[in-house]
Amino acid sequence: MSLRTRTALLWIVAVAAVQVLCASIYVELRRAQADAEWVERTQEVVLRVAEIQGSVDVAETAQRGFLLTRREAYLAQLDPALEHNAGSFRRANELVVNPGQKDRLSKLAKLVETKFAELRETVDLGRKGDFEAALALVQGDRGLNTMARIRQSVAEIQAVQQQLLETRSESARTRTRGIFATILGGGLVVVVTMLALGLTTMRRLNRPLEQLVEGTRLLGAGASGHRIAVRSDDELGRLAHAINAMADQQAAALVAREAADQQILEANEALSRKTDELVARGRAIETLSRMAQRLQSAGGDGEFGQVAARLVPEILPDRAGALFAVNHSRNLFVRIAAWGDPNLPTEFQPQDCWALRRGQSHHRGDDYGEVDCQHFAGTPASCYHCLPLTAASDVVGLLYLQGELSPVERDAAGALVESVALALVNHRLRASLREQSIRDPLTRLFNRRYMEETLALEFARAERTGGEIAVIMMDIDHFKRFNDSFGHEAGDAMLQAVARMVLARVRKGDIACRYGGEELIVVLPGVGLDGALERAGGILAGARELSIVHEGRSLGHVTLSLGVAAAKADTTSAPALIALADRALYGAKAAGRDRIEHSGAEPVPA
Ligand code: GH3
Ligand code: MG
Ligand code: MG
Repeated sequence: MSLRTRTALLWIVAVAAVQVLCASIYVELRRAQADAEWVERTQEVVLRVAEIQGSVDVAETAQRGFLLTRREAYLAQLDPALEHNAGSFRRANELVVNPGQKDRLSKLAKLVETKFAELRETVDLGRKGDFEAALALVQGDRGLNTMARIRQSVAEIQAVQQQLLETRSESARTRTRGIFATILGGGLVVVVTMLALGLTTMRRLNRPLEQLVEGTRLLGAGASGHRIAVRSDDELGRLAHAINAMADQQAAALVAREAADQQILEANEALSRKTDELVARGRAIETLSRMAQRLQSAGGDGEFGQVAARLVPEILPDRAGALFAVNHSRNLFVRIAAWGDPNLPTEFQPQDCWALRRGQSHHRGDDYGEVDCQHFAGTPASCYHCLPLTAASDVVGLLYLQGELSPVERDAAGALVESVALALVNHRLRASLREQSIRDPLTRLFNRRYMEETLALEFARAERTGGEIAVIMMDIDHFKRFNDSFGHEAGDAMLQAVARMVLARVRKGDIACRYGGEELIVVLPGVGLDGALERAGGILAGARELSIVHEGRSLGHVTLSLGVAAAKADTTSAPALIALADRALYGAKAAGRDRIEHSGAEPVPA
């Protein structure tokens, strides 16, 4: 039941109870009033009957006074008494409703009339002067009897009236007590009913109200999970239900907002990751281009490797790795750079690497079932990538990277592989062109032009330091005969064999070159005449030991004639020194070949 209905019912009951109470009191009061009126009328009837008795007495007294004194003055009260008497009767008749009383009243009226007739008869006799007759009538029993009957009738009427009065008074008293009882009882019933209804309503209001107040306080304080446990179906229940629904909605909105916040956070993180990636990519691209330029300008494999070892870790930080280049024979991969201790040998065979075997990159991961390569110096790494360097479908090298590469790192590694492969091919091409430009293709010795340039440089250096420099010039004896006897190809083979022997007999830093035809020169920087003669002796002996077989035929023995010249660099020039060596060689030829001649210890001016 709703609170409004309950309160309305409470008020209706209260108002109805009060109305019933008031109506009861009203009815009782009306009755009491009626009773009071009755008492009043009864008392008036008694009074009026007493007046009738009184007026009869007054009339009789006036008659007696007149008859005894014969004075007319006494009669003055007779007529007013008669009139008064008539008025009293009329009033008494109006007041009396009881039929018995009415009867008695009319009998009394007849008696009083008889009495007044008797009085008038005597008074009339007296006026006529016949007082004797009048007194005789008075002294007779007639007047006495009538008077006695009147008195008796009056007494009867008054007795009945008295009886009625007592009854009415008793009734009025009872009525008054009833009124008091009604006021007290009814009032008590009304008060108790209202109290009971009020108390039950308060009891039904108190707990839900407390729960509502506490619940809204908790929700307001942020306890979003709290719900108000009011189960009634009245307004408070509906209010609790509405507040709970609002809290549900707020909780849902909170969850949605948190999800949106999370999404924004994730988007931000993704964006920041992307930005970092882009920055890293940009840096990698910049480093790649820098590296490509450096690799382009790298001199030998050593320099190439240094550039790679320095810059690859900038592109892929915290990754150990190594760069291998295939050798000329394509049977070995030689390490030209390594960074971050990659646990790899200085060289390995192509079949030791799965990437080179299959011609595509090989990835071995922690949780990635792949076979291990055999090119490790010890235990294979648990995670690594082998990336072949290919150019125009030719494998030119291998990039090894240790650890698990992230997608960004893989992208960088892809770009790195392309860049390094191209640079390596260029590097190799440049090196081979350079080789071709400075080496004699038949003997693989330096050519004359390279020798002359190098000699000029060595002279310049020796001049600065005041050092010595020596030249050995040599010529194969009777070479024409070889050609003539065994053919030009056999002559080439002989030349190659002699060149190999010479290379084996000179030291690192000596420059061996083909000067022209079957003439060779060895430049010995920092070497004096004695050292040069010793070196020339080795070459002479080496030639004698040579036994050359070409296409299954022995070409017999070969001898060399050698001319040696040495000088302090600041005392002569490169052409002059060569000319001295040439002259010494001529001397050796002239002296019978297969020998060494030298220009002497004294310097010859340029
Ligand atoms: P000598 O002992 O006086 O030096 O006699 P020689 O025969 O070696 O001297 P000469 O200068 O007359 O002959 C040199 C020959 O070397 C001429 C040429 O046919 C030959 N010759 C020069 N260059 C080459 C080459 O590249 N290959 C071959 N097979 N022969 C060459
Ligand atoms: Mg010769
Ligand atoms: Mg010659």
